[in-house]
Amino acid sequence: MKWDVHKIREDFPILKLKNPHGNPLIYLDNAATTQKPWQVIKCIEDFYTGYNANIHRGGYWPATQATSSFEKARKKVAEFIHADSEKSIIFTAGTTDSINKLLIAYLDPMLNENDEVVISEMEHHSNLIPWQQICIRKGAKLRWIPINSHGELELEIYYGLLNEKTKIVSVSAVSNTLGNITDLEKIINAAHQKNIPVLVDAAQSVPHYETDVHSMDCDFLAFSAHKVYGPTGLGILYIKEDHLDRISPAQYGGGAIKNVSFEETIFAEAPAKFEAGTPNISGAIALASALDYVENIGWDYITNHNLELANYAFEALSGINSLQILGDFKPRAPVLSFNLEGIHPHDVAGLLAEDGIAIRAGHHCTQPLMDIFKIHGTCRVSFAMYNTKDEVDKLKSSLKEVIKFFR
Ligand code: PMP
Repeated sequence: MKWDVHKIREDFPILKLKNPHGNPLIYLDNAATTQKPWQVIKCIEDFYTGYNANIHRGGYWPATQATSSFEKARKKVAEFIHADSEKSIIFTAGTTDSINKLLIAYLDPMLNENDEVVISEMEHHSNLIPWQQICIRKGAKLRWIPINSHGELELEIYYGLLNEKTKIVSVSAVSNTLGNITDLEKIINAAHQKNIPVLVDAAQSVPHYETDVHSMDCDFLAFSAHKVYGPTGLGILYIKEDHLDRISPAQYGGGAIKNVSFEETIFAEAPAKFEAGTPNISGAIALASALDYVENIGWDYITNHNLELANYAFEALSGINSLQILGDFKPRAPVLSFNLEGIHPHDVAGLLAEDGIAIRAGHHCTQPLMDIFKIHGTCRVSFAMYNTKDEVDKLKSSLKEVIKFFR
């Protein structure tokens, strides 16, 4: 089926709203979080009005229905990212939480003084600070893959960083600031040749491209539900099946055990051993509904539509004098950072907001990347399946007004 963007927009109630100045919302901050279709919103309402109960405990209805819907959601996520087993799908609170959990469970017990961890220069703080802090604590070294002037990772330098002391490589599939797409095949192959596991921060790729952990052959992958049309406060940590038995729980508590005495605990098998305490039940079920929604629209539409918008925006914004885009690579994910000469990004975003245009301004949780470009921040626009070329045109004309205002 060929989708029409206007038909898709009908599913997103917030897109019908106007800002306090009476201008319709043009939401271009999808890298921060996406809007939710009514199907996902309704799913949360259905849970709390129809079968709210804790899971994996009660043998009564509605607990049985809650448990089966929660486990169905795990199966949905596994299928969505092409995981070989549902056991590999761990529900967390988001990408940040997934990375921190993996760090505690996997890296902490085995990282020694002088060991090394490899990330890249474009990482989100959530995929930088956890590794940095554990390296400081253990006397290990954090290494980073540089980017070139176009904003692409320098792979030859990366190959040289890998050695017998490297304990993990953790890179994002798509930069949340630049929109460049990482060549994961090369990154993962090179690491695996040296038996180094790789974590993929897929927060910005899962919403735009089909994710296939099986063919990608990553060891770990993290993403957030809220960036793929699902609820906030929920994320996924994928752990390849080979690693599951070797990794101990990151947190301790109820629901994650087989047997407990005062002297010892025998932990449950994965995924339960990684999910101590009551999880975000409605969130997991709503994520499954969001993934159903995405699959129903289809990757043909989503990937092409978003790419087309990214290219269209790149051309449109390139045509504005005194506007400079960071990174000139193509293909790019639908994320674009730019600056207007002599105008602070927060001023740009503030004026656009009056026109109903929601963009992000600042360092985008990538301060080291800002330091490399010798800037404090950028304006960032990022697109989703419901954005239109018309909205890009409005962005362009509002930006021209901003320039006029400051002149
Ligand atoms: N990594 C990347 C690449 C991101 O874009 C983000 C969110 N901006 C995160 C990690 C953190 O995601 P969350 O806040 O949902 O944990």
